[in-house]
Amino acid sequence: MSQAASHLLHTLYNSALDAVFPPRCAGCQMWSKELFCPLCQPLLKPIQPPFCALCGHPFDPLAHSASVCAECRDNRYHQAPAFKILRSVYEFEEPVREAVHRLKYGDKIALAQPLARLLHNYLRQPPVQDAPKLPPIPHDQLALLIPVPLHPWRHYRRGYNQSTLLARALGQLMQVPVGEILRRTRHTTPQVELSAKNRMENVRGAFALDEAMVKKLTPGGGPMLLLDDVCTTGSTLRECAGVLKKFGFKEVYALTLARQL
Ligand SMILES: [Zn+2]
Ligand SMILES: [Zn+2]
Repeated sequence: MSQAASHLLHTLYNSALDAVFPPRCAGCQMWSKELFCPLCQPLLKPIQPPFCALCGHPFDPLAHSASVCAECRDNRYHQAPAFKILRSVYEFEEPVREAVHRLKYGDKIALAQPLARLLHNYLRQPPVQDAPKLPPIPHDQLALLIPVPLHPWRHYRRGYNQSTLLARALGQLMQVPVGEILRRTRHTTPQVELSAKNRMENVRGAFALDEAMVKKLTPGGGPMLLLDDVCTTGSTLRECAGVLKKFGFKEVYALTLARQL
C-alpha cells in the first residue's frame, strides 16, 4: 500500500474512532480535540518562579527574599534533600485535579500519554528564575525514569500504578528506559489525608531498593528522574531519593505533574 493510502486509512480509522468515542476534555468531559478544552485551558495554573531553588515550592512573590524555602534550609544543616531539585508542572487544582483523578481512579489510562507530553514540554522548556540559577533537570542526559511505587496491595486493587503509566509514556517520548527499582515496604496513609507534620513520619522507611531489578537494568551512574503524579510536601520524593542516594545513585531529580499547595 502506498504511503498516501495508508495515511488516508489511518485518518479514516481515527475519525471513525472519534465518531464512536469523541475525545473529551480531561477536565470537564466536554467534547474536545485538545487534552483540555478552551474553557479549561485558561484555568491551568503552571507553577512559575519565584520558587524554592531546591524543592520548587512557590514563594509569595511579595515576600520573596530567600532562595531556598524554610524546610530545605533547615534540612541543609541536618539532612539536605537527597534529590538535586524537585519540580512540579501545575498546581493541583481543576482541571488538572480532575485529569489526575481520572487517570488514578477512573481507569482512564489513555490519559497517561497526553499528560506525559505536558511533562516532556516542561522538561524541554522549564521556567527559569533569575537567581539562584540551579541547573535544570538534564532532560537530554537522563539514564533512567523511576516511578514512585504504590504499595503492592493498592497496586493490585487499582490494577496499575499511575506513576508508572506516566513514566512509560514519558520514557517513550524521550527514549529513556523506565525502571521500577523502588518498592514500598509497608502500607502508608495517602499523604493528602495527613497534617504536614505527620507526612514525613508516614513515609519514613517506607521504600526500599529492588536490587534484583537494579542488577537487571544496570542503569550506571547517569542522572535519574523520579516521577509521581502529585506531590504534597515532597516527603515521599525526599524519602525515595534518599533510598537511591544511599545506594550510590548521586544524581537524582524529581518531577511531578501537579503539586498540592
Ligand atoms: Zn474542559
Ligand atoms: Zn524547598
